[in-house]
Amino acid sequence: MSGNELEYIKDVFKDNWIAPIGPHLTMFEDIVKKYTNSKYAVAVTSCTAGIHLALRALRVKEGDYVLCSSLTFVATVNPILYCGAEPIFVDSEEGSWNMDPILLEEAILNSTALGKKPKAIIPVHIFGVPCNMDAIKKLSDEYDIPIIEDAAESLGSTFNDKHTGTFGSIGVYSFNGNKLLSTSGGGVVVTNNKEHAEYMKHLSTQAKENRPYYYHTDIGYNYRMSNVLAAIGVAQMEVIEERIKRTREVNKIYQKEVGKFFYSFQEERSGDRSNMWLTCALMNGEDKPEDLIEHLSKDNIEARRIWKPMHEQPVMQGYKKYINGNSSLIFLQGICLPSGSDLTKADMKRIIKSIKTFFNK
Ligand SMILES: *Cc1c(COP(=O)(O)O)cnc(C)c1O
Repeated sequence: MSGNELEYIKDVFKDNWIAPIGPHLTMFEDIVKKYTNSKYAVAVTSCTAGIHLALRALRVKEGDYVLCSSLTFVATVNPILYCGAEPIFVDSEEGSWNMDPILLEEAILNSTALGKKPKAIIPVHIFGVPCNMDAIKKLSDEYDIPIIEDAAESLGSTFNDKHTGTFGSIGVYSFNGNKLLSTSGGGVVVTNNKEHAEYMKHLSTQAKENRPYYYHTDIGYNYRMSNVLAAIGVAQMEVIEERIKRTREVNKIYQKEVGKFFYSFQEERSGDRSNMWLTCALMNGEDKPEDLIEHLSKDNIEARRIWKPMHEQPVMQGYKKYINGNSSLIFLQGICLPSGSDLTKADMKRIIKSIKTFFNK
């Protein structure tokens, strides 16, 4: 937490807005809107819920195809399955490790040739690094397939000075406990489309029709964020730029101090700004990420593997996939290094020393 959270929570308690409605929700949504330059924002219980609402807003239904990145956290894909739709997995490009536009086009052409044009594209800006949104947006426009951006990890990241989450029809940010900013749990959906915004808010509050009694014509959810958590979000948004400054410094320190031991780091394009939520790197063929993780853990330092791609997950078998091998390689050779924005100079020194010891053994 950054400092002002408790003050704002006290205001919430003083005014007794302990509910999924209240002034801090509006305040939080306004701040996220202004920061990302979006017309509408809806605060919800999680980014997963937000992706679900976005799919509903785009009228994704049972049996529809939805294109999505294979190298991602499972929360990108689960909402597709909640809708009864089928994911089509698209592998990663080199450099950014995000959705490969060449494979994306192949997937669109093949599905369309079979008479079933996909209903949506979900690119994911993994670890904060922006996708190639020029190429993905071009395909979205050309084939008339809307984009839902999973910007769970990339709040504050920009591609050509435009915020990730604002390129598609709908973008979703996460405020889960492990993200750059946290409300303990939560998400915000952004869009420039008024109809989408109103429909998603409607669905997030049990789809109650505007009548003097309870009346429902649609199936909704209990997905609205609590006003208490929105108060935390207001305070968190005050420190976002400070945090990104630090995570970007941490990334630079790794590249400078231990860069030579790794094959490569995940890269942003020139002109982009990643929020560098996590610094991730590929190890050389003979080095195993699990060995470095174990070595670091003996020094009480936590590092993690990168996700096993969705097309390799047991629960995701049987779906179409467009694969070039990159995501499998990133899973086998990749590592997420400690990257918190609260890492001190002393912490970094200790981590760097431990990494150097590992490679010089
Ligand atoms: C964290 C995360 C989500 C889910 O966010 P929640 O707010 O925890 O539901 C979705 N996609 C990606 C890529 C994530 O990292």
